[in-house]
Amino acid sequence: MSRFRQEWDLIPGAAFVIAGVLYLAYVTLMAFVWLAGPIVEGDAVHPIVWGWFLVTAALGVLMVPFILLVGYVWSDAKRRGMNAVLWVLLAIFIPNAIGIILYFILRDPLSVPCPSCQAPVGKELVCCASCGTVVRPSCPECRRATRDGWTHCGYCGAALRPSTPSPAP
Ligand SMILES: [Zn+2]
Ligand SMILES: [Zn+2]
Repeated sequence: MSRFRQEWDLIPGAAFVIAGVLYLAYVTLMAFVWLAGPIVEGDAVHPIVWGWFLVTAALGVLMVPFILLVGYVWSDAKRRGMNAVLWVLLAIFIPNAIGIILYFILRDPLSVPCPSCQAPVGKELVCCASCGTVVRPSCPECRRATRDGWTHCGYCGAALRPSTPSPAP
């Protein structure tokens, strides 16, 4: 499965439903704005008015990727242990999609699910904050998470045992 496909699957089904409903509502509103007057008065709709209706309806399609992106922010923020409600509000209310751009700049590194309780555990954490399970090898001196291949701790320089993670008996 490709990376894009994985990310795409994060978009909640509700986001597609909301995008569809809002777009239909928008097209209905535009039809009302442009077409209702002449139709009620029994006039033929002028081709230019048809044109404006079609242009505004087509431009409204842009709201669909925006809503899907907000849905992605929702799932991705939850997966990363971030405040999903806050980020969705920022994504919606900061104009020109700047909230969404900020999200992609500032989002936390991907967390992994805790092996025993499935709670998301942030990249820098050594133990699950929900149940205390040790999820990553850590430095014996400063206790921060270490990475594969390190022979010395990248934070404090302490030598690391070459063989890894299980805590000494
Ligand atoms: Zn846990
Ligand atoms: Zn260290």
